[in-house]
Amino acid sequence: MSGRLRIAVQKSGRLADKSLELLEAAGLRVLKGANELLYRIENAPIDLLRVRDDDIPVFVGDGVADLGIVGLNVLEEHMGERAAKPEQVMNLGFGKCDLKIAAPTNFEYRGPRSLQGLRIATTYPHVLSRFLKENGVSAEIVSMRGAVEVAPRLKLAQAICDLVSTGATLEANGLAPFDTVLRSEAVLIRAPRAVEPELQKVVDSVLLRFRGVTASRGAKYVMMNAPRAVLPEITAILPGAGSPTVTPLAGSDDKVAIHAVCQESVFWETLEQLKAAGASAILVLPIEKMM
Ligand code: ATP
Ligand code: ZN
Repeated sequence: MSGRLRIAVQKSGRLADKSLELLEAAGLRVLKGANELLYRIENAPIDLLRVRDDDIPVFVGDGVADLGIVGLNVLEEHMGERAAKPEQVMNLGFGKCDLKIAAPTNFEYRGPRSLQGLRIATTYPHVLSRFLKENGVSAEIVSMRGAVEVAPRLKLAQAICDLVSTGATLEANGLAPFDTVLRSEAVLIRAPRAVEPELQKVVDSVLLRFRGVTASRGAKYVMMNAPRAVLPEITAILPGAGSPTVTPLAGSDDKVAIHAVCQESVFWETLEQLKAAGASAILVLPIEKMM
């Protein structure tokens, strides 16, 4: 097309800032220009197409944008609707929320079967319909555009299927969550058709960098000294670490330095366990980039 790659991102809303942060963390400098619809990336042939999140799977499916950042909930709902389907490339680790079945707190829920014959209000009719089908339940889906949580009070439905992160909105409306229909987070999607070879290089680089950013998020570099004999014990304590790097300490026959990348959170409890196992001089460092 224009020789520039297009990435569709949410213009404003819960994913907007996080999407820009991800791009910046991947070393792509976003130029917030006067053009509200398109932002340019300063140091790569990339434009950001800023749109409503509901339009992102449509644009990427149709090839108007080459890549897109959107909630899995929106993607899955779209997949039920249109022929041109974008491809889901990777989870991005932010925008986490669940699509849940909720009902008045006194509802007696004993699994999806309890929904048989009920009216359920939702803005996700396709995802809900798939969930009901998978569970062999027949119920009436009341499709709404928003404010689903008021449906039970208005006697429009006995239950709802809606996005929940903290549960505060449900509680404020006298509802409680009873089941999870979909666990969602922001995902990277790709157009189903191939891009020009020059732009494919840009796509590959974006994917590699995004993978690096998501992999290093929360990861820590842990260093310590310990007697060689307790090495197996220490390796077992380190959360989400592969095989650590072990180097002899100068002037000591039995003590070694242990370095490891931990993929999961390292808590104070972990450090106490390491110390109890014989480790000393324990350091935990943040990781900025990983490839
Ligand atoms: P738009 O104007 O782009 O259509 P919107 O109002 O549909 O925006 P937002 O409320 O900004 O959407 O939410 C965007 C996405 O953020 C959701 O589709 C979902 O993937 C994610 N998200 C994360 N936490 C929550 C939450 N607590 N409630 C709703 N969405 C959440
Ligand atoms: Zn939307």
